[in-house]
Amino acid sequence: MKILVVGAGLSGCSAARLLKDRGHEVSLIEKRGEVGGLCITRTGDDELRYEPFGARTFHAKSSRVREFVARFDDFNGYVHRKGMIINGRLFPFPMTKAAIDGLEEKERIFEELKNRPAIIDKTNFETACISIFGRTLYGYFVKNYTVKMWGVDPKELTAEWAQKRLELREDDSEGLFKDEWQGLPCHGYSFLLERMIDGIHVMVNTTSFDPAGYDVVILSAPIDHAMDFKFGRLQYRGLRFDYSKDEEWEDDDYGTINLPQHPRYIRKCNFKILHKQKSSHSLVQYQEPVAADEKSVPMYPVNTEENNRIFDRYLKKVCATKNICPIGRLGLFKYLNMDKAVEVAFDMVAIIESYSEITSEERYKKIKAIAKSH
Ligand SMILES: Cc1cc2nc3c(=O)[nH]c(=O)nc-3n(C[C@H](O)[C@H](O)[C@H](O)COP(=O)(O)OP(=O)(O)OC[C@H]3O[C@@H](n4cnc5c(N)ncnc54)[C@H](O)[C@@H]3O)c2cc1C
Repeated sequence: MKILVVGAGLSGCSAARLLKDRGHEVSLIEKRGEVGGLCITRTGDDELRYEPFGARTFHAKSSRVREFVARFDDFNGYVHRKGMIINGRLFPFPMTKAAIDGLEEKERIFEELKNRPAIIDKTNFETACISIFGRTLYGYFVKNYTVKMWGVDPKELTAEWAQKRLELREDDSEGLFKDEWQGLPCHGYSFLLERMIDGIHVMVNTTSFDPAGYDVVILSAPIDHAMDFKFGRLQYRGLRFDYSKDEEWEDDDYGTINLPQHPRYIRKCNFKILHKQKSSHSLVQYQEPVAADEKSVPMYPVNTEENNRIFDRYLKKVCATKNICPIGRLGLFKYLNMDKAVEVAFDMVAIIESYSEITSEERYKKIKAIAKSH
């Protein structure tokens, strides 16, 4: 098959590699001047590596994902631990029951935890969080963080994110992810992705294409843009970054520290720790959420009920086009961790190879099922 992949982020590059390995004729176009999408790494002063779109740690349960990415670079084995600062003190994130002992209102918090409902109230994000943490902990490290992060009242967000991303650790283990396999590519994400697409024709600084020239076009670019915003714009949040060199860091066990009570920033990341680099210098990145407009990089899909409804209309429309298959964070309007972005690319291979033989309704159902499963 002749296949065009639109967007050379992790999703697009993974799909391109998998399909090329299966003998298809694959080419890639990328809007920016380099491949990698959000997963790029640069080397700054003092030889310190950093991710300009935000620090990120790879972690995966799936062996096919691990084996796939490990083909392109070694991983440094960094196991991600995150902290958070509440009332000027450092706590682990996720919050552990042991750490609650260090909070002034510990008795009230334990009482609220004891009285949590047996079933999580999934009315919206706020009700789900209060069911998981009780009101006091929710107020300490979720509410303000969420308002800053998403720019909307937590009641407007769906409950899904709460259950997926937030937890209260019953045991005292502190790693953010439970996946055994974690780390950052030793030579950075840009190196990994460039090796992934070795031998595949790439056109950077390119957005235009003619779908009629291909059996299938894989769209890892924004689905609303590809459909000329026919049903309206899908909302995203972006991040603005500030940097600080050689600042004092609270605890070298934590690569990232959330700042739920800070007026602007949501977190800070220490790249030397994440990349396990030895240096007498350090580089810390501060992240401030902002609304993503046409000029900025869309980062986090804002999954309100309304946005999800709009996305669904786009998905139906795209599936009716016969040869355009959406994937990735922007094609599926869904936050995907890196392992899940690769997983989606794996799952899509069978659909792509039978794309013109199945009905638009089947395409819609299959793509929706894949997006939901991750
Ligand atoms: C701040 C932040 C931190 C994260 N941290 C982690 C982490 O620690 N661990 C983890 O597992 N995951 C993390 N993620 C998720 C991870 O970044 C995504 O899984 C990954 O970026 C998904 O890649 P993608 O290819 O789907 O999207 P992208 O990386 O956005 O790639 C899309 C590509 O399409 C291009 N494009 C857009 N429009 C067009 C067009 N019209 N024509 C051609 N090209 C176009 C873009 O320029 C871009 O290169 C994080 C995400 C964010 C936002």
